Amino acid sequence: MYYAHPHDAAQPELLALGPLVALGAGWLLVRWVQTAPARPDPWESAAGSAADLREPDTWLCYRCLGPHSEAAKFCPDCGAAVGPYNNYDPFLFLFSVGQWLRTGTREPPRRGWLFGLGFALAALGAVMILAPAYWVVLAWNRRRSRRNRSVTAAASG
Ligand SMILES: [Zn+2]
Repeated sequence: MYYAHPHDAAQPELLALGPLVALGAGWLLVRWVQTAPARPDPWESAAGSAADLREPDTWLCYRCLGPHSEAAKFCPDCGAAVGPYNNYDPFLFLFSVGQWLRTGTREPPRRGWLFGLGFALAALGAVMILAPAYWVVLAWNRRRSRRNRSVTAAASG
């Protein structure tokens, strides 16, 4: 003899109501979010309006901070590759790589052996067979910078 469990009798109706209850709860949640009162823009007071966050009118060179136009591909002051799409243009990309390689050899280098190792390894990928020549210039620049720092430290202290 089969004895029906009390839950078994109500199960078909509950199974049919479950998705409807979930759908109704979801609809109520959406309506609650849609009808919630709008609060003031939190950015309005601190950083100006949202319109101030648009693209800048004046573009600055990342190297010398000189202004340049949005359409400029190179900085008119220092010649750095500043175009926003320079790295996507196969020809202009070469100038970006050259700019980056010069960062390791012509400017005061970043201190630390990790930067030196990074420039050396990245040059291997960028200029391949010419990498040993780049390494010589890189090492010469780092030694020159180290010598200048020691002279400056000796003169000041
Ligand atoms: Zn510049």
